[in-house]
Amino acid sequence: MKLSVNLDRCIKAAECSTYHAELFAARDDGFPVVIVEEPAGDQVEDAEDAVRVCPGNAITLTEDDA
Ligand code: SF4
Repeated sequence: MKLSVNLDRCIKAAECSTYHAELFAARDDGFPVVIVEEPAGDQVEDAEDAVRVCPGNAITLTEDDA
């Protein structure tokens, strides 16, 4: 699985870095950084939750071969 953020869509609401700090960090400018680009195990469920709650629909989780 590949986890990524489209910063063009991000509204810097920080849900991702607040609720899933193991996957995302917040930059000084408010945009998130993906810490774990290839989540595995329990991280996949957390990544799926981050996709669901992102108010900007900016987070995507795709298959490795997608
Ligand atoms: S939850 Fe979505 S909109 Fe909010 S900071 Fe993270 S990527 Fe950006």
